[in-house]
Amino acid sequence: MRKLPEPKQPEKLIDDKGLRIDGRRLDQLRPIKLEVGLLDKADGSAYIEQGKNKILVAVYGPREAHPKHIAMPERAVIRCRYHMAPFSVDERKSPAPSRREMELSKVIRESLESVVLTDLYPRTTIDLFIEVLQSDGGSRCAGIIAASLALADAGIPMRELVAACAVGKIQGKMALDLSDAEDKYGEADLPVAFVPNAGMITLLQMDGILTTNEFEHGLSMALEACKTIHVLQREALKKKYLSIKEVSEEREEPVVVA
Ligand code: ADP
Repeated sequence: MRKLPEPKQPEKLIDDKGLRIDGRRLDQLRPIKLEVGLLDKADGSAYIEQGKNKILVAVYGPREAHPKHIAMPERAVIRCRYHMAPFSVDERKSPAPSRREMELSKVIRESLESVVLTDLYPRTTIDLFIEVLQSDGGSRCAGIIAASLALADAGIPMRELVAACAVGKIQGKMALDLSDAEDKYGEADLPVAFVPNAGMITLLQMDGILTTNEFEHGLSMALEACKTIHVLQREALKKKYLSIKEVSEEREEPVVVA
């Protein structure tokens, strides 16, 4: 049986109590669940759920560059593919790469390149696959969060994990972490990727129009959110290594004294 179509444009994006369509305050993130190292075959992997977004990331590498002509003599080459599954949105999406997916693959790669110590692995490639299983706005930022965890899981040296979060304008007010409906029916969207300890912004895009004050206010909201997300990322990584430690301690043979 065919699923009923999604509701049309909501009457209001912010209600009289100042709450958004999913009940969040303007400065509130959607719930985030992170998991690291869930795929056996890839060198590194991570999974993120952020609200209704569900995104899986796998990393291969560093490994010998193939084809050879893409190799760089002084550093590793990072390749990134952001891909939305045909079933990730309401209407079946073509599995072929769209212009949007090519653009997102590029900006996500660029947002991560400056933190990876690529000069340690000359003539190699690092392949990053971002598979969006379900999409609900802010998928490039959620992809960056999971991608930097997957790179760390692959043991690739990095200066720091990259956190990311979008902020936008809905009904004339700045709001954190827009959902799909807010993105579609709102006035502006500003995705940001941030490396908190280095204080470095590695992605800054904008769709729509903001005043200087709105931009500054929105950017500071996004940077604060990135700091919160960075803590969650570190916890997710620690959780994986603590669970490995526990398993290896359980397996340890007792010492037999002759
Ligand atoms: P982001 O996911 O980073 O916010 P966009 O602003 O380009 O990127 O897209 C916003 C949302 O629009 C996506 O998260 C997704 O839910 C929806 N979307 C994008 N492409 C499609 C598509 N081809 N069909 C239906 N919905 C789409």
